[in-house]
Amino acid sequence: MSIFDHVESAVRSYCRNWPTVFNRGQGSWIYDEGGRGYLDFFAGAGALNYGHNNSALKQGLLDYVTSDGIAHALDMSTIAKRDLLDTFVHLILKPRRLDYRIQFPSPTGASSVESALRLARKATGRTAVLGFANSFHGVTLGALLVSDSRLSRMDSTTPVSGRTPLPYNTHFGDNPDLSVVERRFDVSAVGQERPAAVIVETVQGEGGVNVASVQWLQALSRLCSDFGVVLIVDDVQAGCGRTGSFFSFENAGIVPDIVCLSKSISGYGLPLALTLIRPDLDVWEPGEHSGTFRGNNHAFITATKAIETYWSDNILEKQTVSKGESVRRELASLAAAYPHLSLGVRGAGLINGLSFLDGKQARSVCFAAFERGLLVETAGRQGEVVKLMPPLTTTDDELDTGLELLKASIEESVHESEGL
Ligand code: PLP
Repeated sequence: MSIFDHVESAVRSYCRNWPTVFNRGQGSWIYDEGGRGYLDFFAGAGALNYGHNNSALKQGLLDYVTSDGIAHALDMSTIAKRDLLDTFVHLILKPRRLDYRIQFPSPTGASSVESALRLARKATGRTAVLGFANSFHGVTLGALLVSDSRLSRMDSTTPVSGRTPLPYNTHFGDNPDLSVVERRFDVSAVGQERPAAVIVETVQGEGGVNVASVQWLQALSRLCSDFGVVLIVDDVQAGCGRTGSFFSFENAGIVPDIVCLSKSISGYGLPLALTLIRPDLDVWEPGEHSGTFRGNNHAFITATKAIETYWSDNILEKQTVSKGESVRRELASLAAAYPHLSLGVRGAGLINGLSFLDGKQARSVCFAAFERGLLVETAGRQGEVVKLMPPLTTTDDELDTGLELLKASIEESVHESEGL
């Protein structure tokens, strides 16, 4: 038994799927201690949009550390924080005509979600917060309350009575159908308190790469504004360029009241989260939502470098859109090659999924992929979707190699399951 098996908690998970000991990473590749390279189409669950040890970001961090730059300062003002705020306002918010106050919650996606839910409650004076079917927002108590994914349903520690998932991205013909949401918002119809907030992912990552349509998002946004319900977009996984644009909601033309960012905001895999708040909703008292690790200065440095390097122009955004289209074309031809598997293709930008009939098939493909040197994970209600999330900086050749490995892994697991 390895030390991981007998010392690390039973809660460990990814190490069970990928039973090797990793040592170093560079770009889209991660290497184990035996020197074997794996193409990483998992990318830290979306925390490594610019790849492992991106050289521009690394140099900035090395310079800062060797000059004894501040590492920890709670939320005191530092040069590193000033530079990030300045860069974020000028390269991200202003060009998109967005006006948000920026909160630094504790550095995980769930912490940003917690801050958003608490603030929406405080600003509205109401308590109910709603999420959607198949959503995932983290595993703190508040985030679990609005989550409905496979992971959150495994949770036996939180009473589920408060959870009322709304139907996600439903349509009636071509028209978005938000009648259930509207009934829940309309106090006169239900005879209960109007919710404070609704939280939504524009692309449900853990939920199986479900992409909300532009029309549905626009209708949801209109409904929230009509009823004075705070619209929170959880862009923890789909943001930071994953779908192409910096924010995943940009092509819908909506302006959420609160936006949660984490994962790739530091760009380097360093923990950092931002909660973006419509200015009039920023009703916090000083220190009211505090935490020791709100100011990860090393992450401020790499976040600033990432934004300067990749978001001063729209080159990365265009590349992500076109690479994503070619990934979906390849996946569609894979699906056509195996009609009896009923494979489904879905995605946006470089978050894409191939759905199988059940979780067992998808898991066996992921394991065969690992053995061939490709990291991909499962998502979806039964884990039936193989999710492909390569770093956005992955080259065309690497994408081709990864898709070839995936194809070989599907063939292998199909042959095995058919006993050939
Ligand atoms: N929100 C979304 C959409 C996520 O995908 C995740 C994690 O996968 C979270 C929140 C939680 O983030 P963290 O694991 O950093 O708490």
